Amino acid sequence: MIKISERLGRVEYAIRDIILHAREYQKTGKKIIYLNIGDPVAFDFKTPVHIKNALIDALNHDNDYYTDSEGWLDLRQSIVEKESGKKGLDLAFDDVLVTNGVSEGLDMVMGSIIEEKDEVLLPGPYYPPYSSYAKFYGGNMVEFKILDDGTPDIDDIRKKITGRSKAICLINPNNPTGEVFDKKSLKSIVDVASENNLYIICDEIYDEIVFDNAFSFIGNVAKDAPVVLLNGFSKTYSMTGLRCGYICMNNSSRQLDSLRHNIFKLARVRIASNLPVQIAANAALNGPQDHIVQMRQKLQNRRDLVVKRLDEIDGVYCKKPKGAFYVFPKINLQNRWKSDMEFVIEMLNSTGVLTVHGSGFGINGSNHFRIVYLPQENVLEEAMDRIELFLKKNNKPCFVI
Ligand code: PLP
Repeated sequence: MIKISERLGRVEYAIRDIILHAREYQKTGKKIIYLNIGDPVAFDFKTPVHIKNALIDALNHDNDYYTDSEGWLDLRQSIVEKESGKKGLDLAFDDVLVTNGVSEGLDMVMGSIIEEKDEVLLPGPYYPPYSSYAKFYGGNMVEFKILDDGTPDIDDIRKKITGRSKAICLINPNNPTGEVFDKKSLKSIVDVASENNLYIICDEIYDEIVFDNAFSFIGNVAKDAPVVLLNGFSKTYSMTGLRCGYICMNNSSRQLDSLRHNIFKLARVRIASNLPVQIAANAALNGPQDHIVQMRQKLQNRRDLVVKRLDEIDGVYCKKPKGAFYVFPKINLQNRWKSDMEFVIEMLNSTGVLTVHGSGFGINGSNHFRIVYLPQENVLEEAMDRIELFLKKNNKPCFVI
């Protein structure tokens, strides 16, 4: 056997790693209710027709050649309009780099800023690739606390900043908790990061999937701080499989100048992102937006259903998410399960409902599990019936406040 790199061993992705157990279950011939992956297209949120048509037209007109490494200019300009308009970030088109999904953008940013033993601060629980990429490039993830009212513990952040700290990452709205930071919290984090010469990497991929209250964009508090915004088309435009995202670097920030001038080297090494998809993404930004309103309404109904059902189970505690499409209930393992992973696997094997163990989202995710509430109401009702029965069968209330 030829050796692989040691750093590859540091990479994990719970959301997909759990699928291995699902495959075993499927061998029994039984069907699974998948509540593990946040892919709208797998449910009744299909890519809007005008976006698909733009993609087909691009191919029919032979627009499938290598394009500029930085991204197709028309799309970069449309991204500037989206992110600098009401979202408030100061941008010119050459502050924008188009990537094959937010995932590639995150990889490029982490690869551009992390040195051996550097630390990246982030509120836990968090979307796992943040930790995987930080570790892959030799760094480490340091989780900071979120207070009970959903605001970040700024004192905890200050305590955790060391000479090795490189960046503060924010996922807003958050995956897996659906937590959304208010404007004051964002401003406090931006101030702390800026004072300490740290990058602020903010992922707003769920910026249009926010319920109840208006959403505060990082751009509106960025001023001249070193804010690097990640966003993409997978969720809002149901374009998961098409792979398109982007990186925006605050034009007003001099602290970002070195990154701004050098990150494009990485973009050139991988040649370019997919041109037909960029053309479709441009149609997404410039075409009708009414599907977003419908999506939000459907998701709000589904969130309310799942939260209500969880609340009805004796002893269940589940915070109502304010955005994205996940709920993250807390579980008391008592002596019944050794870990939240064991709980999730046993629940899969007894009910056929596939969720994700909370510890896959960092230390603060332990003793939780994540449910994706993208499926239609009848599927969610069926899944919740089975989860409820499973919990009742296990006798004592499994969840605690
Ligand atoms: N960022 C967050 C917070 C996510 O939850 C996800 C997918 O679930 C991604 C990024 C992946 O985005 P993309 O499909 O653009 O790579």
